[in-house]
Amino acid sequence: MKIKAVQVTEPKKIQIVEVDMPTIQNPDEVLMRVKVAGICGSDVHIFHGTNPMASYPRIIGHEFAGEIVEVGSDVTKVSVGNKVVAEPIFYCGECYACKSGRPNVCENLEVLGVHRDGGMQEYVVLPVSKVHVIGNDVDWELATMVEPFTIAAQSTWRGNVTAGETVLIMGAGPIGMGILQYSKYKGATCIVSDIDNERLEDAKAMGADHVINPLEVDVVEKALELTGGSGPNVTIDSACTLRTFEQAVEMTSPAGRVVVLGFNVEPSQIPQVLITKKELTIVGSRLQTSKFPEVIDLFNKGVLNPRALVTQSFPFTEVEKAMAVIEDKSIKKNKVILTF
Ligand SMILES: [Zn+2]
Ligand SMILES: [Zn+2]
Repeated sequence: MKIKAVQVTEPKKIQIVEVDMPTIQNPDEVLMRVKVAGICGSDVHIFHGTNPMASYPRIIGHEFAGEIVEVGSDVTKVSVGNKVVAEPIFYCGECYACKSGRPNVCENLEVLGVHRDGGMQEYVVLPVSKVHVIGNDVDWELATMVEPFTIAAQSTWRGNVTAGETVLIMGAGPIGMGILQYSKYKGATCIVSDIDNERLEDAKAMGADHVINPLEVDVVEKALELTGGSGPNVTIDSACTLRTFEQAVEMTSPAGRVVVLGFNVEPSQIPQVLITKKELTIVGSRLQTSKFPEVIDLFNKGVLNPRALVTQSFPFTEVEKAMAVIEDKSIKKNKVILTF
């Protein structure tokens, strides 16, 4: 039997292909019928040929959810009919990072949809350890937001966001908005910066205490003004430009933390004095470490509100149309998803 999949055959070429129906090979595996998949910035990079980690041809997709339709003989954690979201990372368990409880930066890390074929296909087989049951009350559209929210959970954890602190979030895309919600949930005062005023309005509606448009005011000056001259205690940069990293280091308060999420290969100009004088902690945040159960629990309880972030949905066969919407700067959007 054949199934349909979204494949980036080579850079700039995305198409629907037919592949063999996957089957359970090991007793710990499950067969999942994919229902939804979010399109991430990294998928767009793979499409453009600008993700150095990807190889081709590749079935993309690492933000996906579906229904269990078959389980291997050893599987007890989930059963047929369960609604699940996929955890898209595979690691060796042997290297220093893995042994330090940080498998998300495993030396031999493989991410579904990047190093291995991913979730944008009608059926996927995964080890049961890579699926997490989500409540039936969480609809499919929301379920696809779990993975992006684990990224938000990770970055607020890496930045040690604590109640009563001020967090400045650079960028109000899907990840930035998730970080905003997570930081509010943790009890922080939140400032959001973005060059798009419509997105800033959305950020306010989602709980941002202050917003800054760097095209209108100096973001560093404004951040200092809003924090009584101290600067934000934590700055999380989801805009990921050379300049935003520099600004983050400039404005973060003494004893503060700067969290970096970008994959830019060009160097930013960071003077040592700012780091030393303020004893800044600068950390990277990549993927997530064991954050799925926590995020799913918050989704089940309705504590987080990802619905407003899902702005467009297309049948997966119209993936080219979906990509065109993502590329079109004149169309207002946040997360674009595919349905199966
Ligand atoms: Zn993603
Ligand atoms: Zn490892």
